[in-house]
Amino acid sequence: MGSAAVYHLVRRGLRVLGLERFNIPHHFGSSHGVTRIIRLSYFEHPSYVPLLRRAYELWRELEQQSAERLLHITGSIDAGVPGSAVFEGSRASCEQHGLPHEILTSAEVTRRFPGYRLPAQMMAVLQPQGGFVLPELCISAHVRLAQALGAEIHAREQVAGWEPVAEGIRVRTSRAIYEAAQLVISAGAWVAELAPELKSLAVPERQVFGWLQPKRPEWFAPDRFPVFNIAVEEGHYYGLPVFGVPGFKVGRFHHLEEAINPNTMRRECDSRDEEVLWTFAERYFPNGAGSTMALHTCIFTNTPDGHFIIDRHPQCDRVWIASPCSGHGFKMASVIGEIMADLAERGETRHEISLHRLAARR
Ligand SMILES: Cc1cc2nc3c(=O)[nH]c(=O)nc-3n(C[C@H](O)[C@H](O)[C@H](O)COP(=O)(O)OP(=O)(O)OC[C@H]3O[C@@H](n4cnc5c(N)ncnc54)[C@H](O)[C@@H]3O)c2cc1C
Repeated sequence: MGSAAVYHLVRRGLRVLGLERFNIPHHFGSSHGVTRIIRLSYFEHPSYVPLLRRAYELWRELEQQSAERLLHITGSIDAGVPGSAVFEGSRASCEQHGLPHEILTSAEVTRRFPGYRLPAQMMAVLQPQGGFVLPELCISAHVRLAQALGAEIHAREQVAGWEPVAEGIRVRTSRAIYEAAQLVISAGAWVAELAPELKSLAVPERQVFGWLQPKRPEWFAPDRFPVFNIAVEEGHYYGLPVFGVPGFKVGRFHHLEEAINPNTMRRECDSRDEEVLWTFAERYFPNGAGSTMALHTCIFTNTPDGHFIIDRHPQCDRVWIASPCSGHGFKMASVIGEIMADLAERGETRHEISLHRLAARR
């Protein structure tokens, strides 16, 4: 969110400073791991669809500007038993917004995409524009292009605090003190360190994703394997084709349901973490459940309702917050960057963000 906001602000001719406490990019937060699902069918709420359309446009634009491929289209599968939130929510968003889609039975899914072996009673929405974006490359592209336009960006410089002053905001870091007219806070899992008012609305949670060696690699290639969200009796899982790492990627939403402090979180993975992913893969993607190739931790920052927080700081009208993104925000980083630039520049945006306002949580 931060790299996208810097890019959109500097594009408007504004003087911008971006501050990151770790490296750029890094793997301690929420935006690493080679791939992130992007999809238009949005079971979480149909009101995301217009934001998603703009997010796609902006990723394509970023690809052109950076001359890098950042977005890969595979189609997306959202599956569950009839009545489940994933299946019905996805179908509702497609119908409401006229998105091309097909409703498939479990057998039809396997016929088209042989890596999938879902239970017979499950139904799926196939939306052809789903796919994945490459988070580390997207961050680097935003940063590189922002720098080329004159943004100053510092890695390994931690913001220690901020306060309002007569002309704007004073920010104290591990290295210096800066003053700016407006401040955008997009600190992910650390947001409550910089905006304690959000502590109960932004709860960091340990996640693990893994890559498993497919037994039939040709069935797990991007041209044969749509990204998925699937609600099964073990929970809600997501997955992506083999790309970048030699394995089929899989994760469970809310993994072991461990609320954490991002500064002290257990970052190594163990056999219990592996078991959660492997058991799922063996049952529903038996030809994907070979040897584990890699396991990584990552962090969700959850709001109580699962929707984003995009708003003015409750106590300071020159400070804007773009976090937390409850485990589904990366695909929208491009449009959230544009929204943050609108808000910091003009105090308003043409995008519909009422679902993401703090007032919606009171
Ligand atoms: C396992 C997993 C799978 C996911 N899958 C998907 C998916 O498929 N599709 C999707 O759309 N989304 C997905 N998400 C969610 C998505 O990745 C996140 O919503 C998004 O990356 C959050 O971005 P962010 O900028 O808010 O946080 P981050 O990328 O963590 O950025 C916050 C940054 O602020 C920095 N920072 C914090 N405090 C300070 C400070 N005091 N001073 C300076 N810098 C500071 C941090 O170092 C960090 O770099 C997934 C998340 C996880 C963990």
